[in-house]
Amino acid sequence: MNIYQRALQLHQAKQGKLAVKSKVAVTNKEELSLAYSPGVAEPCRAIQKNPENIYLYTAKANQVAVVSSGTAVLGLGDIGPEAALPVMEGKAVLFKEFANVDAFPLCVGSKNIEKIVEFVKLLEPTFAGVNLEDISAPECFAIENRLKQETNMAIFHDDQHGTAIVVLAAVLNALELVEKKLDQIKIVINGAGAAATAVTKLLFDAGAQNIIINDKIGILNSQNKVQFDSLRQQVIAQTNRQDIAGGLAEAVAGADLFIGLSVADVLTKKMVETMAKQPLIFAMANPEPEIKPEIALQAGAEVIATGRSDYPNQINNVLAFPGVFRGALDVRARAISEKMKIAAARAIAELAASKLNSDYIIPDPFDQRVVPTVALAVARTAIKEGLARLELTDNELKAKIKAN
Ligand code: NAP
Ligand code: MG
Repeated sequence: MNIYQRALQLHQAKQGKLAVKSKVAVTNKEELSLAYSPGVAEPCRAIQKNPENIYLYTAKANQVAVVSSGTAVLGLGDIGPEAALPVMEGKAVLFKEFANVDAFPLCVGSKNIEKIVEFVKLLEPTFAGVNLEDISAPECFAIENRLKQETNMAIFHDDQHGTAIVVLAAVLNALELVEKKLDQIKIVINGAGAAATAVTKLLFDAGAQNIIINDKIGILNSQNKVQFDSLRQQVIAQTNRQDIAGGLAEAVAGADLFIGLSVADVLTKKMVETMAKQPLIFAMANPEPEIKPEIALQAGAEVIATGRSDYPNQINNVLAFPGVFRGALDVRARAISEKMKIAAARAIAELAASKLNSDYIIPDPFDQRVVPTVALAVARTAIKEGLARLELTDNELKAKIKAN
Protein backbone atom coordinates (compact mmCIF):
# COMPACT_ATOMS: atom_id res chain seq x y z
CA MET A 1 0.00 0.00 0.00
CA ASN A 2 1.24 3.51 -0.75
CA ILE A 3 1.18 6.40 1.75
CA TYR A 4 -2.23 7.67 0.56
CA GLN A 5 -3.89 4.25 0.97
CA ARG A 6 -2.34 3.85 4.41
CA ALA A 7 -3.47 7.34 5.42
CA LEU A 8 -7.03 6.57 4.34
CA GLN A 9 -6.96 3.48 6.54
CA LEU A 10 -5.63 5.44 9.51
CA HIS A 11 -8.41 8.02 9.15
CA GLN A 12 -11.08 5.35 8.90
CA ALA A 13 -9.88 3.12 11.72
CA LYS A 14 -11.21 5.38 14.51
CA GLN A 15 -13.38 7.74 12.49
CA GLY A 16 -10.96 10.63 12.42
CA LYS A 17 -8.08 11.59 14.66
CA LEU A 18 -9.53 13.46 17.63
CA ALA A 19 -11.72 12.90 20.69
CA VAL A 20 -12.61 14.90 23.79
CA LYS A 21 -11.26 13.55 27.04
CA SER A 22 -12.71 14.30 30.49
CA LYS A 23 -10.32 15.47 33.23
CA VAL A 24 -12.62 14.30 36.03
CA ALA A 25 -14.44 11.06 36.77
CA VAL A 26 -18.24 10.84 36.90
CA THR A 27 -18.99 7.36 38.18
CA ASN A 28 -21.34 8.07 41.12
CA LYS A 29 -23.84 10.63 42.46
CA GLU A 30 -21.24 12.54 44.49
CA GLU A 31 -18.92 13.00 41.50
CA LEU A 32 -21.89 13.96 39.34
CA SER A 33 -23.01 16.67 41.72
CA LEU A 34 -19.50 18.11 41.93
CA ALA A 35 -18.74 18.16 38.21
CA TYR A 36 -22.23 19.15 37.23
CA SER A 37 -25.35 20.33 39.03
CA PRO A 38 -25.59 21.53 41.74
CA GLY A 39 -21.83 21.95 42.44
CA VAL A 40 -20.96 23.58 39.13
CA ALA A 41 -23.02 26.62 40.13
CA GLU A 42 -20.22 27.79 42.43
CA PRO A 43 -17.52 28.23 39.73
CA CYS A 44 -20.23 29.84 37.58
CA ARG A 45 -20.92 32.41 40.31
CA ALA A 46 -17.19 33.00 40.82
CA ILE A 47 -16.72 33.73 37.12
CA GLN A 48 -19.81 35.94 37.02
CA LYS A 49 -18.32 37.96 39.87
CA ASN A 50 -14.87 38.19 38.28
CA PRO A 51 -14.55 37.19 34.60
CA GLU A 52 -10.81 36.53 35.01
CA ASN A 53 -11.75 33.53 37.15
CA ILE A 54 -12.65 31.73 33.93
CA TYR A 55 -8.93 30.94 33.60
CA LEU A 56 -8.97 29.23 37.01
CA TYR A 57 -12.15 27.20 36.82
CA THR A 58 -12.44 26.18 33.16
CA ALA A 59 -10.27 24.79 30.38
CA LYS A 60 -10.34 28.11 28.46
CA ALA A 61 -6.72 29.01 29.21
CA ASN A 62 -5.51 26.05 27.17
CA GLN A 63 -8.13 26.12 24.40
CA VAL A 64 -7.44 27.18 20.83
CA ALA A 65 -9.89 27.22 17.91
CA VAL A 66 -8.47 26.08 14.58
CA VAL A 67 -10.69 27.99 12.16
CA SER A 68 -10.76 27.35 8.42
CA SER A 69 -13.01 28.15 5.48
CA GLY A 70 -11.26 25.45 3.47
CA THR A 71 -10.38 27.92 0.70
CA ALA A 72 -6.59 27.34 0.51
CA VAL A 73 -5.93 23.86 1.86
CA LEU A 74 -2.35 22.53 1.65
CA GLY A 75 -1.57 22.07 -2.03
CA LEU A 76 -5.22 21.20 -2.68
CA GLY A 77 -6.69 24.69 -3.06
CA ASP A 78 -10.33 25.66 -2.45
CA ILE A 79 -11.72 22.25 -1.51
CA GLY A 80 -14.40 23.50 0.88
CA PRO A 81 -14.86 23.29 4.65
CA GLU A 82 -15.91 19.63 4.77
CA ALA A 83 -12.92 18.36 2.81
CA ALA A 84 -10.67 20.59 4.94
CA LEU A 85 -11.71 18.87 8.18
CA PRO A 86 -9.05 16.10 8.09
CA VAL A 87 -6.38 18.81 7.86
CA MET A 88 -7.84 20.78 10.77
CA GLU A 89 -8.12 17.60 12.87
CA GLY A 90 -4.48 16.98 12.02
CA LYS A 91 -3.54 20.49 13.08
CA ALA A 92 -5.30 19.91 16.41
CA VAL A 93 -3.36 16.67 16.84
CA LEU A 94 -0.09 18.55 16.29
CA PHE A 95 -1.11 21.19 18.83
CA LYS A 96 -1.73 18.44 21.38
CA GLU A 97 1.26 16.24 20.61
CA PHE A 98 3.84 19.02 20.36
CA ALA A 99 2.60 21.55 22.93
CA ASN A 100 -0.24 19.98 24.95
CA VAL A 101 -2.65 22.64 23.66
CA ASP A 102 -6.31 21.61 23.39
CA ALA A 103 -7.27 22.67 19.87
CA PHE A 104 -10.70 22.33 18.28
CA PRO A 105 -11.11 22.02 14.49
CA LEU A 106 -13.85 24.42 13.39
CA CYS A 107 -14.51 24.43 9.65
CA VAL A 108 -16.92 27.21 8.74
CA GLY A 109 -19.49 27.08 5.95
CA SER A 110 -18.80 30.54 4.55
CA LYS A 111 -16.16 32.43 2.58
CA ASN A 112 -17.62 35.77 3.58
CA ILE A 113 -15.17 37.98 5.51
CA GLU A 114 -17.88 39.56 7.70
CA LYS A 115 -19.41 36.21 8.62
CA ILE A 116 -16.07 34.59 9.48
CA VAL A 117 -15.01 37.60 11.57
CA GLU A 118 -18.34 37.54 13.40
CA PHE A 119 -18.11 33.77 13.95
CA VAL A 120 -14.62 34.00 15.47
CA LYS A 121 -15.51 37.03 17.61
CA LEU A 122 -18.40 35.09 19.11
CA LEU A 123 -15.94 32.37 20.24
CA GLU A 124 -14.05 34.70 22.56
CA PRO A 125 -15.75 33.54 25.78
CA THR A 126 -14.56 29.97 25.17
CA PHE A 127 -11.12 30.22 23.52
CA ALA A 128 -7.86 31.85 24.57
CA GLY A 129 -6.44 31.68 21.08
CA VAL A 130 -7.41 31.26 17.44
CA ASN A 131 -5.28 29.64 14.78
CA LEU A 132 -6.61 30.73 11.39
CA GLU A 133 -5.77 28.00 8.89
CA ASP A 134 -5.86 27.53 5.15
CA ILE A 135 -7.91 30.63 4.37
CA SER A 136 -7.11 32.08 0.94
CA ALA A 137 -5.46 35.43 0.21
CA PRO A 138 -6.49 38.22 0.15
CA GLU A 139 -9.44 37.43 2.48
CA CYS A 140 -7.04 36.06 5.12
CA PHE A 141 -5.40 39.48 5.55
CA ALA A 142 -8.66 41.30 6.23
CA ILE A 143 -9.99 38.56 8.52
CA GLU A 144 -6.87 38.48 10.66
CA ASN A 145 -6.51 42.23 10.80
CA ARG A 146 -10.11 42.72 11.90
CA LEU A 147 -9.83 40.02 14.56
CA LYS A 148 -6.64 41.53 15.94
CA GLN A 149 -8.38 44.87 16.29
CA GLU A 150 -11.70 43.59 17.55
CA THR A 151 -10.79 40.80 19.99
CA ASN A 152 -8.37 40.21 22.87
CA MET A 153 -7.47 36.65 21.86
CA ALA A 154 -4.12 35.34 20.62
CA ILE A 155 -4.88 35.48 16.87
CA PHE A 156 -2.41 33.84 14.46
CA HIS A 157 -2.78 32.88 10.81
CA ASP A 158 -0.29 30.05 10.63
CA ASP A 159 0.10 29.93 6.85
CA GLN A 160 1.35 33.50 7.06
CA HIS A 161 3.12 33.89 10.36
CA GLY A 162 4.22 30.36 11.14
CA THR A 163 5.95 30.35 7.77
CA ALA A 164 7.43 33.81 8.34
CA ILE A 165 8.87 32.83 11.73
CA VAL A 166 10.57 29.67 10.45
CA VAL A 167 11.86 31.45 7.34
CA LEU A 168 13.32 34.25 9.47
CA ALA A 169 14.99 31.69 11.75
CA ALA A 170 16.52 29.91 8.76
CA VAL A 171 17.58 33.18 7.14
CA LEU A 172 19.34 34.36 10.30
CA ASN A 173 21.37 31.15 10.50
CA ALA A 174 22.08 30.93 6.77
CA LEU A 175 23.46 34.48 6.92
CA GLU A 176 25.59 33.52 9.91
CA LEU A 177 27.04 30.73 7.78
CA VAL A 178 27.99 32.97 4.83
CA GLU A 179 28.93 35.87 7.11
CA LYS A 180 26.49 38.35 5.62
CA LYS A 181 24.20 40.82 7.41
CA LEU A 182 20.41 40.99 7.06
CA ASP A 183 20.43 44.77 6.64
CA GLN A 184 23.04 44.60 3.87
CA ILE A 185 21.80 41.82 1.61
CA LYS A 186 19.57 41.89 -1.44
CA ILE A 187 16.53 39.65 -1.04
CA VAL A 188 14.12 38.49 -3.76
CA ILE A 189 10.75 37.10 -2.77
CA ASN A 190 8.89 35.24 -5.50
CA GLY A 191 5.11 35.22 -5.05
CA ALA A 192 2.93 37.83 -3.37
CA GLY A 193 0.43 35.59 -1.61
CA ALA A 194 -0.34 34.87 2.03
CA ALA A 195 3.05 33.45 2.98
CA ALA A 196 5.15 35.84 0.91
CA THR A 197 3.43 38.91 2.32
CA ALA A 198 3.98 37.84 5.93
CA VAL A 199 7.58 36.81 5.25
CA THR A 200 8.31 40.20 3.66
CA LYS A 201 6.82 42.07 6.59
CA LEU A 202 8.68 40.04 9.22
CA LEU A 203 11.99 40.36 7.37
CA PHE A 204 11.55 44.15 7.26
CA ASP A 205 10.63 44.19 10.96
CA ALA A 206 13.77 42.15 11.73
CA GLY A 207 15.98 44.65 9.92
CA ALA A 208 16.08 43.76 6.21
CA GLN A 209 16.48 46.82 3.99
CA ASN A 210 16.46 45.57 0.44
CA ILE A 211 13.61 43.31 -0.68
CA ILE A 212 12.18 42.91 -4.17
CA ILE A 213 8.91 41.05 -4.68
CA ASN A 214 8.30 39.35 -8.01
CA ASP A 215 4.88 37.95 -8.84
CA LYS A 216 3.27 36.43 -11.93
CA ILE A 217 3.06 39.91 -13.44
CA GLY A 218 6.73 40.66 -12.77
CA ILE A 219 8.61 42.81 -10.27
CA LEU A 220 6.15 44.76 -8.16
CA ASN A 221 6.62 48.49 -8.32
CA SER A 222 4.38 51.53 -8.24
CA GLN A 223 3.18 50.85 -11.77
CA ASN A 224 1.80 47.38 -11.20
CA LYS A 225 1.08 47.16 -7.49
CA VAL A 226 -2.31 48.88 -7.77
CA GLN A 227 -4.24 45.71 -8.44
CA PHE A 228 -3.56 44.43 -4.91
CA ASP A 229 -5.72 44.86 -1.85
CA SER A 230 -4.75 47.66 0.53
CA LEU A 231 -2.98 45.46 3.09
CA ARG A 232 -0.67 43.93 0.53
CA GLN A 233 -0.11 47.33 -1.02
CA GLN A 234 1.29 48.55 2.30
CA VAL A 235 3.84 45.73 2.43
CA ILE A 236 4.65 45.98 -1.25
CA ALA A 237 5.09 49.76 -1.01
CA GLN A 238 8.01 49.12 1.35
CA THR A 239 9.68 46.97 -1.31
CA ASN A 240 9.01 49.46 -3.99
CA ARG A 241 12.19 49.55 -6.04
CA GLN A 242 11.70 52.05 -8.84
CA ASP A 243 15.15 51.25 -10.23
CA ILE A 244 14.30 47.66 -11.13
CA ALA A 245 11.72 46.43 -13.62
CA GLY A 246 11.18 43.17 -15.45
CA GLY A 247 10.70 39.67 -14.15
CA LEU A 248 12.40 37.08 -11.99
CA ALA A 249 15.63 37.03 -14.04
CA GLU A 250 16.10 40.78 -13.55
CA ALA A 251 15.11 40.53 -9.87
CA VAL A 252 17.59 37.81 -8.88
CA ALA A 253 20.65 39.20 -10.64
CA GLY A 254 23.10 40.00 -7.85
CA ALA A 255 20.70 38.86 -5.11
CA ASP A 256 22.06 37.17 -1.99
CA LEU A 257 18.85 35.38 -1.02
CA PHE A 258 15.95 33.95 -3.03
CA ILE A 259 12.76 33.11 -1.18
CA GLY A 260 10.19 31.26 -3.26
CA LEU A 261 6.60 31.09 -2.02
CA SER A 262 5.02 30.66 -5.42
CA VAL A 263 4.95 27.72 -7.85
CA ALA A 264 7.19 24.89 -9.11
CA ASP A 265 10.22 25.25 -11.38
CA VAL A 266 10.25 29.01 -12.03
CA LEU A 267 13.85 29.61 -10.90
CA THR A 268 16.37 28.38 -13.47
CA LYS A 269 19.98 27.28 -13.10
CA LYS A 270 21.01 30.26 -15.21
CA MET A 271 19.25 32.68 -12.88
CA VAL A 272 21.02 31.24 -9.82
CA GLU A 273 24.34 31.65 -11.62
CA THR A 274 23.70 35.41 -11.83
CA MET A 275 23.19 35.78 -8.06
CA ALA A 276 25.77 37.16 -5.62
CA LYS A 277 28.47 34.83 -4.30
CA GLN A 278 27.36 32.07 -1.92
CA PRO A 279 23.69 32.47 -2.85
CA LEU A 280 21.01 31.24 -0.47
CA ILE A 281 18.01 29.54 -2.06
CA PHE A 282 14.79 28.99 -0.15
CA ALA A 283 12.50 27.25 -2.64
CA MET A 284 9.34 26.54 -0.69
CA ALA A 285 6.56 25.94 -3.19
CA ASN A 286 4.89 22.64 -2.24
CA PRO A 287 5.05 19.89 -3.21
CA GLU A 288 7.46 20.87 -6.03
CA PRO A 289 9.92 23.68 -5.23
CA GLU A 290 10.76 26.69 -7.44
CA ILE A 291 14.01 24.91 -8.37
CA LYS A 292 15.12 21.35 -7.73
CA PRO A 293 17.72 21.35 -4.93
CA GLU A 294 20.23 19.39 -7.00
CA ILE A 295 20.05 21.97 -9.81
CA ALA A 296 20.44 24.86 -7.37
CA LEU A 297 23.50 23.18 -5.88
CA GLN A 298 25.02 22.64 -9.33
CA ALA A 299 24.50 26.35 -9.97
CA GLY A 300 26.53 27.19 -6.86
CA ALA A 301 23.91 27.61 -4.14
CA GLU A 302 25.51 27.63 -0.69
CA VAL A 303 22.36 26.71 1.22
CA ILE A 304 19.12 25.32 -0.06
CA ALA A 305 15.93 25.05 2.01
CA THR A 306 12.57 23.65 0.93
CA GLY A 307 9.24 22.69 2.46
CA ARG A 308 10.04 19.00 1.99
CA SER A 309 11.11 16.38 4.47
CA ASP A 310 13.19 14.46 1.91
CA TYR A 311 15.79 17.26 1.63
CA PRO A 312 17.86 18.98 4.34
CA ASN A 313 16.66 22.27 5.87
CA GLN A 314 12.93 21.67 5.87
CA ILE A 315 10.99 24.88 6.54
CA ASN A 316 8.29 23.25 8.64
CA ASN A 317 5.71 25.37 10.46
CA VAL A 318 5.60 22.85 13.27
CA LEU A 319 8.83 24.47 14.46
CA ALA A 320 6.84 27.61 15.26
CA PHE A 321 3.10 27.41 15.97
CA PRO A 322 3.12 24.94 18.90
CA GLY A 323 5.67 26.95 20.87
CA VAL A 324 4.15 30.29 19.89
CA PHE A 325 0.75 29.26 21.24
CA ARG A 326 2.24 27.49 24.30
CA GLY A 327 4.01 30.72 25.25
CA ALA A 328 1.03 32.95 24.45
CA LEU A 329 -1.41 30.77 26.41
CA ASP A 330 0.87 30.41 29.42
CA VAL A 331 0.77 34.17 30.02
CA ARG A 332 -2.82 34.56 28.73
CA ALA A 333 -1.61 36.88 25.99
CA ARG A 334 -4.09 39.33 24.49
CA ALA A 335 -2.42 39.15 21.08
CA ILE A 336 0.53 37.72 19.16
CA SER A 337 2.72 40.66 18.17
CA GLU A 338 5.51 41.15 15.61
CA LYS A 339 8.04 41.20 18.46
CA MET A 340 6.73 37.88 19.80
CA LYS A 341 7.19 36.40 16.30
CA ILE A 342 10.73 37.74 15.99
CA ALA A 343 11.53 36.36 19.45
CA ALA A 344 10.23 32.97 18.31
CA ALA A 345 12.39 33.09 15.17
CA ARG A 346 15.52 34.01 17.13
CA ALA A 347 14.83 31.20 19.62
CA ILE A 348 14.50 28.63 16.81
CA ALA A 349 17.66 29.93 15.14
CA GLU A 350 19.70 29.77 18.33
CA LEU A 351 18.90 26.09 18.81
CA ALA A 352 20.76 25.24 15.61
CA ALA A 353 23.46 27.89 15.97
CA SER A 354 26.15 25.74 17.58
CA LYS A 355 26.12 23.07 14.85
CA LEU A 356 25.51 25.21 11.78
CA ASN A 357 26.36 23.86 8.35
CA SER A 358 24.83 24.05 4.87
CA ASP A 359 22.56 21.09 5.61
CA TYR A 360 21.62 22.22 9.10
CA ILE A 361 20.37 25.79 9.45
CA ILE A 362 17.27 25.02 11.51
CA PRO A 363 16.51 22.37 14.12
CA ASP A 364 14.72 19.16 13.31
CA PRO A 365 10.91 19.36 13.83
CA PHE A 366 11.20 16.56 16.41
CA ASP A 367 13.93 18.31 18.41
CA GLN A 368 12.39 18.28 21.90
CA ARG A 369 14.00 21.60 22.83
CA VAL A 370 12.06 23.60 20.25
CA VAL A 371 8.62 24.04 21.86
CA PRO A 372 9.77 25.01 25.38
CA THR A 373 12.47 27.32 24.02
CA VAL A 374 10.08 29.09 21.64
CA ALA A 375 7.36 29.24 24.31
CA LEU A 376 9.70 30.88 26.82
CA ALA A 377 10.89 33.49 24.31
CA VAL A 378 7.32 34.30 23.22
CA ALA A 379 5.96 34.50 26.78
CA ARG A 380 8.81 36.73 27.98
CA THR A 381 8.24 39.07 25.05
CA ALA A 382 4.49 39.21 25.70
CA ILE A 383 5.18 40.22 29.30
CA LYS A 384 7.73 42.82 28.22
CA GLU A 385 5.28 44.31 25.76
CA GLY A 386 2.42 44.49 28.25
CA LEU A 387 0.37 41.95 26.28
CA ALA A 388 0.24 39.35 29.07
CA ARG A 389 -2.72 39.10 31.41
CA LEU A 390 -0.52 36.97 33.67
CA GLU A 391 2.81 38.55 34.52
CA LEU A 392 4.82 35.58 35.75
CA THR A 393 8.40 35.85 36.98
CA ASP A 394 10.98 34.12 34.82
CA ASN A 395 11.19 31.17 37.20
CA GLU A 396 7.41 30.80 37.36
CA LEU A 397 7.31 30.94 33.60
CA LYS A 398 9.95 28.25 33.19
CA ALA A 399 8.17 25.99 35.70
CA LYS A 400 4.82 26.47 33.94
CA ILE A 401 6.23 25.71 30.50
CA LYS A 402 8.04 22.68 31.87
CA ALA A 403 4.82 21.37 33.45
CA ASN A 404 3.19 21.37 30.03
P1 NAP B 1 -0.90 31.93 -2.22
O1 NAP B 1 -1.49 32.89 -1.23
O2 NAP B 1 -1.78 31.32 -3.23
O3 NAP B 1 0.32 32.66 -2.93
C1 NAP B 1 0.97 32.22 -4.09
C2 NAP B 1 1.48 33.43 -4.83
O4 NAP B 1 2.33 33.04 -5.91
C3 NAP B 1 0.35 34.26 -5.43
O5 NAP B 1 0.61 35.62 -5.20
C4 NAP B 1 0.44 33.88 -6.89
O6 NAP B 1 -0.11 34.87 -7.73
C5 NAP B 1 1.94 33.77 -7.04
N1 NAP B 1 2.37 33.13 -8.28
C6 NAP B 1 1.74 32.21 -9.05
N2 NAP B 1 2.49 31.88 -10.11
C7 NAP B 1 3.63 32.60 -10.02
C8 NAP B 1 4.81 32.72 -10.81
N3 NAP B 1 4.96 32.01 -11.92
N4 NAP B 1 5.79 33.57 -10.40
C9 NAP B 1 5.65 34.29 -9.28
N5 NAP B 1 4.55 34.23 -8.50
C10 NAP B 1 3.57 33.39 -8.85
O7 NAP B 1 -0.21 30.72 -1.44
P2 NAP B 1 0.69 30.74 -0.13
O8 NAP B 1 -0.08 30.16 1.00
O9 NAP B 1 1.33 32.06 0.03
O10 NAP B 1 1.77 29.63 -0.53
C11 NAP B 1 2.62 29.79 -1.65
C12 NAP B 1 3.48 28.54 -1.85
O11 NAP B 1 4.38 28.40 -0.78
C13 NAP B 1 2.68 27.23 -1.90
O12 NAP B 1 3.29 26.35 -2.79
C14 NAP B 1 2.82 26.71 -0.49
O13 NAP B 1 2.70 25.31 -0.43
C15 NAP B 1 4.22 27.15 -0.15
N6 NAP B 1 4.39 27.31 1.30
C16 NAP B 1 5.34 26.53 1.90
C17 NAP B 1 5.52 26.62 3.26
C18 NAP B 1 6.56 25.76 3.89
O14 NAP B 1 7.24 25.06 3.22
N7 NAP B 1 6.70 25.77 5.19
C19 NAP B 1 4.74 27.49 4.02
C20 NAP B 1 3.81 28.29 3.38
C21 NAP B 1 3.64 28.20 2.01
P3 NAP B 1 -1.69 34.81 -8.09
O15 NAP B 1 -2.42 34.95 -6.80
O16 NAP B 1 -1.87 35.97 -8.99
O17 NAP B 1 -1.90 33.47 -8.75
MG1 MG C 1 -1.90 25.56 6.41
